Amino acid sequence: MSWKWELVNSLFNECDKGLIAQIPMLSRRQEDGWQWVHKRKGLYSVKSAYQFLTRHLHGHEQVFVVELWRKLWSLKIPPKVRNLVLHICNHCIPTKLELQPRQIDIELVCALCRAEAESLEHVFLFCPFARDLWASCISTLLPVFVQLTLHWLCQVFSTLSVEDCQMCCMVLWMLWMN
Ligand SMILES: [Zn+2]
Repeated sequence: MSWKWELVNSLFNECDKGLIAQIPMLSRRQEDGWQWVHKRKGLYSVKSAYQFLTRHLHGHEQVFVVELWRKLWSLKIPPKVRNLVLHICNHCIPTKLELQPRQIDIELVCALCRAEAESLEHVFLFCPFARDLWASCISTLLPVFVQLTLHWLCQVFSTLSVEDCQMCCMVLWMLWMN
């Protein structure tokens, strides 16, 4: 087996092509599939995701994250919404800015305001449409908008009531579905 270099050359920049060339190829033919790299057998589990997220945390950080998780799992929200929040915690959201280095041919600008590139922070925090939605749902959150990180979510979840945490998750979901 080998790479389809004509296709690779047409899709990736020099740096990415170099990285692709370093990926070892299987000697036998096998169907492509998804693998969770943090488990030996490649199968995803919530426990392993939790361990991955908390592995490099220490002291009070760990307490914060454990609290975030505990609260997130206790919320009455649809699983797809909880999943989105987990993906946000992992910075695994395919915004246009994230897709750009993969040379996927898309317009970078935010489809809602058309004023800035669609980054994680823009979609969920700084887009005027996002700010309006936050202001109408949980206006107390606006002053703490800095960066959409695990720390931000920990901070938000530690200060909000259960109902407001649920609202927060639903706002994140609505912003992503827009
Ligand atoms: Zn926007």
